Amino acid sequence: MVWKLIERQQRWLEGEKGTVRKDWGGKVSIGLAFPNRYSVGMSNLGFQYVYSALNRFETVVCERVFYPEPEDMALIGQSAGRLLSVESQRPLGDFDLVAFSVPYENDYTNLVEMLRFAGIAPRAADRAETRPLVAGGGVALFINPEPVADYLDFIFAGEAEELLPEFLDFWKQLEHRSSNRFDILKDLAKSVKGIYVPSLYEPVFKEDGTLDSIHPLAPDLPERITVRRADLSKTEPCRTSVFTANTEFSNVMLLEIGRGCGRGCRFCAAGFVYRPVRYHRADDLLQTGPGDSATNRIGLVSAAVSDHPDIHDLCSSLLDRGNSLSFSSLRADSLDSQILSALESSEHHAVAIAPEAGSERLRRVINKNLSQDQIYRAAELLAQKSILNIKLYFMIGLPTENAEDLEAIVETAKGIRHHVLSSSRGKTRLATVTLSINSFVPKPFTPFQWVPFAGVVELREKAKWIRKALSRIPNVRVHFDLPKWAYVQALLSRGDRRVSFFIDKVAQEHFNWAPAMRSSALNPDFWVMRERGREEKFPWEVLDPGIERNYLWEEYQRALQEKQSPECLPGPACRRCGVCGP
Ligand code: SF4
Repeated sequence: MVWKLIERQQRWLEGEKGTVRKDWGGKVSIGLAFPNRYSVGMSNLGFQYVYSALNRFETVVCERVFYPEPEDMALIGQSAGRLLSVESQRPLGDFDLVAFSVPYENDYTNLVEMLRFAGIAPRAADRAETRPLVAGGGVALFINPEPVADYLDFIFAGEAEELLPEFLDFWKQLEHRSSNRFDILKDLAKSVKGIYVPSLYEPVFKEDGTLDSIHPLAPDLPERITVRRADLSKTEPCRTSVFTANTEFSNVMLLEIGRGCGRGCRFCAAGFVYRPVRYHRADDLLQTGPGDSATNRIGLVSAAVSDHPDIHDLCSSLLDRGNSLSFSSLRADSLDSQILSALESSEHHAVAIAPEAGSERLRRVINKNLSQDQIYRAAELLAQKSILNIKLYFMIGLPTENAEDLEAIVETAKGIRHHVLSSSRGKTRLATVTLSINSFVPKPFTPFQWVPFAGVVELREKAKWIRKALSRIPNVRVHFDLPKWAYVQALLSRGDRRVSFFIDKVAQEHFNWAPAMRSSALNPDFWVMRERGREEKFPWEVLDPGIERNYLWEEYQRALQEKQSPECLPGPACRRCGVCGP
């Protein structure tokens, strides 16, 4: 029956362009594991980048391994060792290093299940053999690694461009030594800045359950792990390297044009942990070839694409070259004539904008810096270019939110509908306004790290009210996330190592989340629903992304006072948040 699994991997391979296949002889073998299905992993630019970056090292062979497809679960679960790599269909346990790429917290249980499927003890403390070592990287882990700290031998804290060369240098030296697992990890933690070995750090909790400290267990280890950032002016831009029809972006070459965002929206972890905002130079981007791409469509990727300093030249050069463009994100206040022309000539029929909150008051709280007029103007401009499908992102459960803020979501949706219809030149039947409304999850390393999650019942009530208020408005659709999943995300993004109790229950004992949470004397509300005091230590502060705690607290206080803050504009003189120096 294992041939069925092999056949699936071979089918994927046949449908791919850009796959790297290498001989294993004398190389470090890395199983790059994505804790979700093939189509999700192959849509992730970070995962694609790490795959191609690792394979560029002559000394490395890197192959991909994904969470099983639903129809393969039973077969893979029957006996350990059936979780196979795509390229050579070898079991994950055969690699020297298993490296998980983890962009989303809600995939932590999949990570643990994959270890079990591979026949690797899920908890690091239960692994005795020297190989494979099990590592993790990706943005979820450098926002807060603690909930999965017990499962990983080590964690890459920061960006791959910066960490991988130093790590592989370390590994090369390792080949000449016969060390045991513990010695390797100790050496690694001391030798490579940005590598976190959780087993060498001990969390201590106070009687009231809050964290007292996470301290290193050896004197020559750093107190906190520096999160590493790449200098994008010296690195090749990330782009899709393996093309397959089996992704969300099957006919698009994704191209990262910048990293981070300087706008300082107070809910957004990416806006803080990736500081300072950095951009690839337009010349370098234009030289980034399409590789094996069969498409001429380029998806420009960044937290705020239109903030790239050369966005107009970049778009016009790519369009002149015959490419069509799509944009991962656009701010309503940056839709000028050139961006609109790029959208029009690339035949966009739908565009997403993100007011995030309905009222200007609440947008000041979250530092969105977007007026109602700017939002309506953006809708009008898009409709004038025959872009009549507008998707709007909102959050509910934001700090200080009140009934007027919810009414303002409804009014904003109606206002946008009005502006789209009145600018649509008679094509009203084609116009759609789609609201995507998500529950706010307070994230580590943001000014809202001190605030509690709003609660499942409250969020459900709010969603119900908005749905009813918009139910009879033609051309308006509303989608909500499920607050229960936002609660799980809050637990996994704000928790400490004790949260692994719940992950074990779900991943290893086949519980659903609700019974897993009920099965413990630990109340998950402790991590999710509790407002933190100013001085409370956070588990994620074992990492140091450079942002000063005082700066985040002051930003939180400014939020409560409904004060906006200026954006981060990197320059030699700025010392506002601490990232660019004390
Ligand atoms: S110190 Fe200033 S320029 Fe540097 S990341 Fe912080 S706000 Fe931006």
